[in-house]
Amino acid sequence: MWTMNRLDKSQPLTIGSHHWNYQAYKMPDAPEPVGPNSTATEDTTLAEFLESTPPNVLKPISDLAVLRHGHNNAWMEIQKPDIQLHCSSDTCDGIRIFNCIFGGQILNTDRKFIFIHYRCRNCESKRKVYAVIVWLKAAQFRAGFALKLGEVPAFGPHTPSRVITLIGLDQETFVQGRRAENLGLGMGAFVYYRRVVENQKGRIIHELGKAAKRLGASEEAVKRFAKAEIETQFTNAIEEVNDAIPQSLRIRGHNPLTLLHTALSEGLHAKTDAECLELATSIRIVLTELADRISQAVKDDAELTLAVTRLLEKEAKEAVGYASQKS
Ligand SMILES: [Zn+2]
Repeated sequence: MWTMNRLDKSQPLTIGSHHWNYQAYKMPDAPEPVGPNSTATEDTTLAEFLESTPPNVLKPISDLAVLRHGHNNAWMEIQKPDIQLHCSSDTCDGIRIFNCIFGGQILNTDRKFIFIHYRCRNCESKRKVYAVIVWLKAAQFRAGFALKLGEVPAFGPHTPSRVITLIGLDQETFVQGRRAENLGLGMGAFVYYRRVVENQKGRIIHELGKAAKRLGASEEAVKRFAKAEIETQFTNAIEEVNDAIPQSLRIRGHNPLTLLHTALSEGLHAKTDAECLELATSIRIVLTELADRISQAVKDDAELTLAVTRLLEKEAKEAVGYASQKS
């Protein structure tokens, strides 16, 4: 008959030929969770925790562990749920299922520092590694607590390639802004995004001009974009292109540059962190929406060109066929 010897802390845990000493695995000096969201709230699943909880946020986990049986013993082991993450490989480039390829460590009510390794099930090339602190709420309990110390690649939603095209070299600053936003650090997120827009305003106007040209903007309008691109004063640049921005590149009918400028002109000194977070989120949404619209304009143009080419070729072939029938 197996025994629950792992739950008796006065005895070492025996699994196969290994003897595990509880004291050796006890982490009495584990750091307290930090950050504004560190208070434990409603339970989450381990998969949700791994997919979408940022580091330094303590979460109660409803399905942290599973009971395993040996010949004459039993132990609680961390679950290995499949998770969904963005896979950046050329094959995938989208949300894919990742399998746990290294995990399954034994858990108890002591804090334990562990690594969990995941790999994309589709391309089998991209990996994700988590460093976490985990412990059970009580002996034999499936539920417990988890806190991420970090993850590689770093936590944060995937930044679409069209946004990267729009912001160029400030990609890393944008990603930092996204991380700060996810952690609820409003002032930090605002400052990162402001830097992206200030550094890249010329590029953003250049990309807008390119898209406007593809959408059939006049030569005069294209010249205005070129002039605005090198203008140092953002307000002057906005004024220059205000009438030249095609309707389909406007956001809810508004000039996207004006929207960005309005958000950036707000002074930080009188704002709470929550207000800064709102502004930061607005800047990120406008930038992403603008990138979508520019990308869509280019795509529509490419599709239209292809459609016209096909129809012209078809027309040419039919004309040749008709001519040969007549001769
Ligand atoms: Zn993949």
